[in-house]
Amino acid sequence: MSKKVLVLGETRAGQLRNVSFEAVAAGKTAAQGGEVIGVLIGDAVSSLAEEMIQHGADRVLTVEDEKLGQYTSDGFAQALMAVIEQEQPDGILFGHTALGKDLSPKIAAKLNTGLISDATAINEENGEIVFTRPIYSGKAFEKVVVEDGLLFATVRPNNIEPLQKDETRSGDVSSVSASIKDLRTIIQDVVRKSTDGVDLSEAKVIIAGGRGVKSEEGFQPLKELADVLGGAVGASRGACDADYCDYSLQIGQTGKVVTPDLYIACGISGAIQHLAGMSNSKVIVAINKDPEADIFKVADYGIVGDLFEVIPMLTEEFKKVKA
Ligand code: FAD
Repeated sequence: MSKKVLVLGETRAGQLRNVSFEAVAAGKTAAQGGEVIGVLIGDAVSSLAEEMIQHGADRVLTVEDEKLGQYTSDGFAQALMAVIEQEQPDGILFGHTALGKDLSPKIAAKLNTGLISDATAINEENGEIVFTRPIYSGKAFEKVVVEDGLLFATVRPNNIEPLQKDETRSGDVSSVSASIKDLRTIIQDVVRKSTDGVDLSEAKVIIAGGRGVKSEEGFQPLKELADVLGGAVGASRGACDADYCDYSLQIGQTGKVVTPDLYIACGISGAIQHLAGMSNSKVIVAINKDPEADIFKVADYGIVGDLFEVIPMLTEEFKKVKA
């Protein structure tokens, strides 16, 4: 049975985030031949509607209000509820991002419905929509089917392939009026941490350093390798606790969960709490001078050696390949 599925488009620095296109692709599967409707909420977001359509949305609804210029769960919930009341969808999909994780439970509570959080895959099996999601910190996966009710899920970045952009696609773009009532949270100022380039949660390549990196300066070779590969630098909690880098780089059970195409773990022992954040990466390379390190148990390729010798060699070789 074809369905109507809403997909929230998420923006950063005035651009749509890639996870929005991945959610549109998930929406296509969930809709089973029905309609995928992109939703854009913000101050001036309608210019982004075309790009959502080019990535597969059939039409786009915008909710624009100057009170929505900065994300607040209060304001975005009011805007999204106006869209939901108008459209009465069968499904709603968000990215499993900080925004998605904040907003989705609030909407689920308002709708008195369940939420499938952090889906890593969505498939149609025997006519049913099946969501796959990790449990027990990624040690196992469960498959979830909604028997009756709303298909409401957040999708983990970097797991669902977006549809090929098609610049010839067109679709209707219309606005939904929502009277945004006084917000209980007012954002006075946003101070961004400088993240030197690629966003960790959406990076295709991550070079992560652990306590074996030994100092803040020790991260420099990792940054150089990340630059050559167009990737981002991450870290274990060991490295963050030792003050070698900022906690915003931490990957693991109490840090970010990442699934890049390539994860290079440098001087990381492979504690279970670290593996919880990266073991679903597509290809894992471990560099460690201890051949017994647990990280080698999850690695596709292992290099036993001193990271300060191995990483510069890798950087030089990748530079040659790229030249
Ligand atoms: P270590 O375990 O000290 O490993 C350092 C490694 O570097 C060693 O294997 C060593 O052989 C290698 N090494 C040293 N020098 C070199 C060299 N020159 N070249 C190559 N290799 C070298 N950890 C996380 O990462 N993320 C989390 O989210 C997280 N959450 C946690 C939550 C809880 C509740 C708890 C209790 C712990 C959590 N931890 C987390 C901590 C985790 O248990 C480990 O302590 C931590 O991951 C260890 O970091 P590490 O691998 O960098 O350090």
